[in-house]
Amino acid sequence: MRVFEEDSNIFVLLSEAISEGLVVVNSEQKIVATNRRAELLFRYEHGELIGKPLSVLIPHTYRDTHEQHVSHFQKDRQQKRMAVGRSLFGLRKNGEQFPLEVGLNPFKLYDKSYVLALVYDMTELRAKDSEIRELNLHLEEKIKERTQELRHTVAQLKREMRRREKAEALIKNSLQKEKELNELKTKFLSLVSHEFKTPLSGILTSATLVGKYSLEEQQPKREKHLNTLMSEVRRLNDILNDFLSIERLEQGKEIYRKTNFSLSKVINEVIYNANMTLKSGQKINYPQNVEDMAIFQDEKIVFLALTNLVYNAVKYSPEDTEIDLKVVFLEERVIFRVIDRGIGIPLKDQKHIFERYFRAENVLLTQGTGIGLNIVKSHVENLGGTIYFESEHKKGSTFSVEFPVSEAVEN
Ligand code: ADP
Repeated sequence: MRVFEEDSNIFVLLSEAISEGLVVVNSEQKIVATNRRAELLFRYEHGELIGKPLSVLIPHTYRDTHEQHVSHFQKDRQQKRMAVGRSLFGLRKNGEQFPLEVGLNPFKLYDKSYVLALVYDMTELRAKDSEIRELNLHLEEKIKERTQELRHTVAQLKREMRRREKAEALIKNSLQKEKELNELKTKFLSLVSHEFKTPLSGILTSATLVGKYSLEEQQPKREKHLNTLMSEVRRLNDILNDFLSIERLEQGKEIYRKTNFSLSKVINEVIYNANMTLKSGQKINYPQNVEDMAIFQDEKIVFLALTNLVYNAVKYSPEDTEIDLKVVFLEERVIFRVIDRGIGIPLKDQKHIFERYFRAENVLLTQGTGIGLNIVKSHVENLGGTIYFESEHKKGSTFSVEFPVSEAVEN
């Protein structure tokens, strides 16, 4: 402290008043003065640092760079704070290192250059720094985690939305179906009441009249009315059978039974029955190529299909027209065609013909339920066959039904 001898008291007073460590070095980088705080920071006894080279306070790894810094600094001769924002360490007497920052202040005294270094202990600050860094790291991880969770939730939400959209579409669809079903039910009820009304009033009239013909010679009249009674009852029975058939088809209860049967027998029966319903001058032409032919199919369904097609041809053709029933034998199929020269089907109605209860606009004054073709189509398709038609309004129609057959054999 010799250099400060003259003002030694003032120096001690001032240097001990500040809270930073104070180290003064001369141009040879020897320590010439310290305060108590510096000694405590570097863990030296009182006055022990005086005369020691500054390098004792600097860890070995930093010494070289430090010396360059100092010589640089002495040339510049400006106040400077070292290690701002960087980690600088001091070396304690016991070899421990501690983080510090240093403010360098050059000054001249009696023509000699000195540097007064103010040493700030950064231990606590650095600890806080690293705590903050750790907190930041933790925060970043938390943010990452949360972002991940959020992404997951968003994905889940999207999935849920898609699921709901699907469910909504399903509900809409089933609502639409229910609406259609309700419409069908209404249509069905009005149809049933309408279809049943006519035969029932026919039955009532004929039954009343039969009762009135009590004389023996009135037998032909009685028979006429009994015939009407029978055919009307048969008609009601047919309609009911159609409805039952729908029910069985829909519940998948229909059982098919394939056998080898004679085609001519079935066709004879179909035409025989249809002949009873012919209008005046109508004629059904029997196919020429079915004698002695047998096919392996469900006889009941072939009969049902042909009956429907031939009945329709008769029903929807005027008097004095002919109806052809043709059979085409192919290798694995047999095609039945029913050709009429009747009222035909308006083009706009053609795509609906096989829909249940559908009736074209040109037949609304003719009796019918719109069920027959729908049932036939279901049966034929269940058996692997097809049904289709060609028709021209007011000219006539050709309905074809194809059945797969193992082979057409001669009886
Ligand atoms: P229905 O004859 O009891 O009305 P179908 O299911 O047998 O019911 O026929 C459905 C509809 O197809 C008929 O209402 C009619 O409009 C049309 N149709 C069927 N066959 C013929 C045909 N040969 N000529 C004209 N229209 C036909």
